[in-house]
Amino acid sequence: MKREAVFVSEEELNRQRAFAEAVRENPDRPESYYVVTYGCQMNAHDSEKITGMLEDMGMKPAEKREDADFVIFNTCCIRENAERKALGNVTWLKEVKKTRPKMIIAVCGCMVQEPGMAQRIFRKYGFINLAFGTANLHKLPEYLHRVLETGLNVVQVENQDVIAEEIPVRRLRYDFAYLTIMYGCDNFCSYCIVPYVRGRERSREPEAILREARELKESGVREIMLLGQNVNSYGKGIPGGFGFPELLKELDGLGIPRIRFMTSHPKDLSDRLIDVMAGSAHILPQFHLPVQSGSNAILEKMNRHYTREQYLERVRRLREAIPGIGLSTDLIVGFPGETEAQFEETMDLVREVGFDSAFTFIYSPRVGTKAAEMPDPVPEAISSVRIQKLIALQEERQQEALQRFIGTEEEILVEGLSKRSSRAVSGRGTHGISVTVDGTEADIGEILKCRITGLKNNTLTGERADQ
Ligand code: SF4
Repeated sequence: MKREAVFVSEEELNRQRAFAEAVRENPDRPESYYVVTYGCQMNAHDSEKITGMLEDMGMKPAEKREDADFVIFNTCCIRENAERKALGNVTWLKEVKKTRPKMIIAVCGCMVQEPGMAQRIFRKYGFINLAFGTANLHKLPEYLHRVLETGLNVVQVENQDVIAEEIPVRRLRYDFAYLTIMYGCDNFCSYCIVPYVRGRERSREPEAILREARELKESGVREIMLLGQNVNSYGKGIPGGFGFPELLKELDGLGIPRIRFMTSHPKDLSDRLIDVMAGSAHILPQFHLPVQSGSNAILEKMNRHYTREQYLERVRRLREAIPGIGLSTDLIVGFPGETEAQFEETMDLVREVGFDSAFTFIYSPRVGTKAAEMPDPVPEAISSVRIQKLIALQEERQQEALQRFIGTEEEILVEGLSKRSSRAVSGRGTHGISVTVDGTEADIGEILKCRITGLKNNTLTGERADQ
């Protein structure tokens, strides 16, 4: 039974299908499109939906953005430089548009959803024909129809927390697919803008997810990545206590060869989830578990709801239940008020855990978040030194951690030819680490068994064990 308040109605979806048809029939519609994507996997998957809708409206992909009739920037606002980069690239296109006045430029995604941004776009970036937020993605056909019919700029941002099912999707790969299980976030970590731009947490119905997963399996997909801002807390609002472990168990039973998920919050990592993973056949032994800081005082200011000790206990429990599990994390340095001693606590934690990989960031204030108003900003010069120290330590620990794979066997899903050699291919192993092995174009999309023989620049190298 669908929770009506959360879902875009069938009637609304039909309206959008009618707009898509009207655009398709419009002789002045754009013939070609180009999608520019910034940010995370959620955005990458949203771009697949945008592409699906554009193709449904009769458009074909263009090789280069300057050649396209319709260019859309799917933006990110998690860090200030992502935003700056997007606006810089949009502005560059303004010059191209002077020579091709019929070009339509659109901007969507998290950046547009930021407070005040829509008004700024409307006033300052008059050459942008269309701007809409994350909650309005499914209405792209309607907006494009309006731009074509009126010639006016359309800027539309809504704050509805909705789920739109059955949007056409054009997947970028045939062997791998993103599968969104939930949207938004309720955690309000003090530095993060996501809850403000992606809305409150809402979970898709289990039946809809399982149906999509079955279709993906039938279409030949070998690996799915379940997506959500906090997949561990999947299930809020779904009756019967059906949560993420239960969903994983059901998905595991479908027989899709490989299942991963992204991203998780340590406070929601339950024993039940670990046990389901440990007992599964297809959930890969990999966990991305963002810790952000090793200092309890900073974790509290970040509103993370766990302590360093609790985090380390979860890591221990994961490693006990799933020996050799691949572990990665996110780390922030230079959070307001971070002292040298607190930074050293982060360094200690990195030393202790030995992550297989880590995304490291200098704290960047986002207007509208609690942390942006906190006193004692850490000077840039200090943050720069800290991040360099942290990266150097992570590199060292990573090299040590990855040694455990040498001499073991690993299955990889081949993503493409290796950048270093035309006679080698690379892909991700079951533990989430990149592996390079002898191979050809014919191996792309295949799962290969490899014996790991070495390590080069954080990539494992191996030989085929399947021949
Ligand atoms: S869990 Fe925290 S960091 Fe992650 S999206 Fe939610 S608020 Fe942002």
